[in-house]
Amino acid sequence: MSFSGGCLCGHIRYQIRRERLNAIHCYCGMCRKAHGTAFSTHCVVPPGQLLWSHSGSRRVAYTSSPGACREFCPHCGTHLLVHGQSGDGNLAVPAGTLDGDPELTLLGHMFTEECVSWYHIADDLPQYKQWPPGYGPSIINPDRSPS
Ligand SMILES: [Zn+2]
Ligand SMILES: [Zn+2]
Repeated sequence: MSFSGGCLCGHIRYQIRRERLNAIHCYCGMCRKAHGTAFSTHCVVPPGQLLWSHSGSRRVAYTSSPGACREFCPHCGTHLLVHGQSGDGNLAVPAGTLDGDPELTLLGHMFTEECVSWYHIADDLPQYKQWPPGYGPSIINPDRSPS
């Protein structure tokens, strides 16, 4: 099975080859700024399951925090990818860039400690103050974990 998506202007397109899409909501301040919204929703995708297509120029990248890279369409600015920080090698594809309204399996809410006061989480999914257990930069580089 595959899911398609792309940027606002249609310059950059992708396909995700998976049976189903797992996603998580993130309330960190960097997602908030990058998306201009109270939180972002990311699909969690192993690198081998994401295929890009584009005509001409490629995605532009911005390092938003040490080791974390965000990629955008150079023409319309759509935020298309986050990678480098989850600790498991997986990519994060902003769910709002998917075509249509495919079903998502929501895993929970992360970085809830940075959630803005004007948004309230109103479901019963698991909430994590920062990374869910077993994920994050401390998995990549244990020296950086705040003990
Ligand atoms: Zn675009
Ligand atoms: Zn975030």
